[in-house]
Amino acid sequence: MKIKHIDHIGIAVKNIEQAGTFYRDILGLEIEGIENVEDQKVNVAFLPITDSELELLESTDPSGPVAKYIGAKGEGIQHIAFRVENIDEALKELRSKGIRLIDEEPRKGAGGARIAFIHPKESNGVLIELCQRN
Ligand code: ZN
Repeated sequence: MKIKHIDHIGIAVKNIEQAGTFYRDILGLEIEGIENVEDQKVNVAFLPITDSELELLESTDPSGPVAKYIGAKGEGIQHIAFRVENIDEALKELRSKGIRLIDEEPRKGAGGARIAFIHPKESNGVLIELCQRN
């Protein structure tokens, strides 16, 4: 598998507007857009930093993964996403090595990406997303 760079860091927040005042007004980052990802029950705000970005994740439903994360752990870094060249090959390689996956097949993520999550028990408690954008 070829990991190219950190695509984004997902930060679970209760409220994008409120969080945005720090990341935008204090840190000077730009909120490039906000997108609803129905599948994951979140609104996602994109804040690019060179080749990577922060994604502020605000739940739209108490049953969604981000709402559950905040309920259990509070606001904070929820996942790290690595950009890969070929997500199908990456998942195939992980399956062949017996690595537990949350997503056996890629699904549609924010910004038109194809994404899949690795089970955090495999990665020292870090939720890792693989992400392909071409
Ligand atoms: Zn993500």
